[in-house]
Amino acid sequence: MSVRVRFAPSPTGKLHLGNVRTAIFNYLYARNKGGKFILRLEDTDAERSTEESVKNLISDLKWLGIQWDEGPEVGGNYGPYRQTERYHIYKEHLEKLVKEGKAYPCYCDKESLDRLREEAREKGRNFIYPGTCRNLTEKERKEKEAANIKPSFRLKITPHTVSFNDLIRGNVSIHTDLFGDFIIVRQDLSPTYNFAVVIDDYLMKITDVLRGEDHLSNTPKQIILYDMFGYEKPRFGHFSMILGPDNSKLSKRHGDVSLAAFREKGFLSEALFNALALLGWSDPDEREILKIEELMERFSLDRINKSAAVFDENKFRYINKQHIISLDIKDFAEKAKPYFEKEEIIPKEFDENIQNWFLKLCELIQKRVTLLSDVVSQSKTVFEYDPSAIDDEGRAVLEEEECLKVILAYAVKSENRDLTTREKYIELVNEIKNELKVKGKNLYHPLRLCVSSSMSGPDLDILVPVIEIGASLDLPIKIESSSKRAWRLVNFLREQGYKI
Ligand code: GLU
Repeated sequence: MSVRVRFAPSPTGKLHLGNVRTAIFNYLYARNKGGKFILRLEDTDAERSTEESVKNLISDLKWLGIQWDEGPEVGGNYGPYRQTERYHIYKEHLEKLVKEGKAYPCYCDKESLDRLREEAREKGRNFIYPGTCRNLTEKERKEKEAANIKPSFRLKITPHTVSFNDLIRGNVSIHTDLFGDFIIVRQDLSPTYNFAVVIDDYLMKITDVLRGEDHLSNTPKQIILYDMFGYEKPRFGHFSMILGPDNSKLSKRHGDVSLAAFREKGFLSEALFNALALLGWSDPDEREILKIEELMERFSLDRINKSAAVFDENKFRYINKQHIISLDIKDFAEKAKPYFEKEEIIPKEFDENIQNWFLKLCELIQKRVTLLSDVVSQSKTVFEYDPSAIDDEGRAVLEEEECLKVILAYAVKSENRDLTTREKYIELVNEIKNELKVKGKNLYHPLRLCVSSSMSGPDLDILVPVIEIGASLDLPIKIESSSKRAWRLVNFLREQGYKI
């Protein structure tokens, strides 16, 4: 039978990186095997599930590039795909188990159960339901019902060891004494996670249940249910946890680890996808930068690591940078645009002239940004010039031989001169070079000071045309031409007592 896997989040908050990785592994596994990926919403927690979470979850997954074959919005043959729409199914299943004597109503009240739980905790033991209601007579049950006590329903467990072969961890054995007669349906008739998940996974024909290690202790309970229903079991696989840099489970303690937070920070969806796929899985050729299609082709469960993966944001940033560099320039510009719009550097609507200039600006910075949100700060040198901000490195240049002459020559010669192409700029530089007989750093360092207040940055032959074209355009932000910058530098130096 072809592979069918599912991602089954509870819409109770923001989708965090750990969950997203589970979705990604399932998605890659399905695509690699030519199978189906199903999205199911486990929204039975009425207090914590919200429609807003559902909406965000769906848009987060879409943003990431995950396309489900069945589930909310797309439908499918095994729906509904929201657990709150499946209560009638759970009810039938409960009735069957009760009828067969495999489950029983429990009338114990919360207070007495809490007391037992507390006692167990004090003794350092696991709480196990003592079976108070397990063997009530029909008469006793009737009395409870007559007293209007609403029961929850528990599964009748025969003590034994449950073993299964985990696709990732190998043989796992857990004794039922760890949990005892657990609840499958609550007093309000809502199913518990373990009950609903088995029924849904079976009816949705899930072949492989792949999820985080935090669910390992639930799996024996689910296996017992499969056996009680007489249902064929899926394969199970549990991914190791993701740890924060301090080796504790990745959580809010490590900052906002939601997918939304990383999107807002300026990560590309394909880079986040790539980086998350490498948290616990490694490429057969140890490649680190992979497109989603490549990941689909190369993914396999046997390269999933059994030990925990450690989240390292710097690694994520490195991967993001590589993905940004490999973007087609138009694509990069499209993604960078909102950041410039927000800072009111470019207008929302613009003509071809601005578009051509904007592409050049993007070319200038594409290799320099790590996060998309860096685009504005990385282009600062195009928009800002302040001779008084020249740092010590730049100040040292002012003492170099012929420096002041080069600065003055640039100011004079660039006035009213077309410097909107690389060639025209180089022509001017050659003129200065030949007239003043200066070359190398004695020429280039002072030239940089004329245009930029920082000694590092993009090469001048590509920076100057971007500044010059920008200065000629009608932009919300006014760009100062390199000639005006150079004159401001000259005046500034004169004020400072330089003989220029
Ligand atoms: N709703 C569960 C969760 O979000 C699903 C676990 C599972 O995949 O079985 O953790």
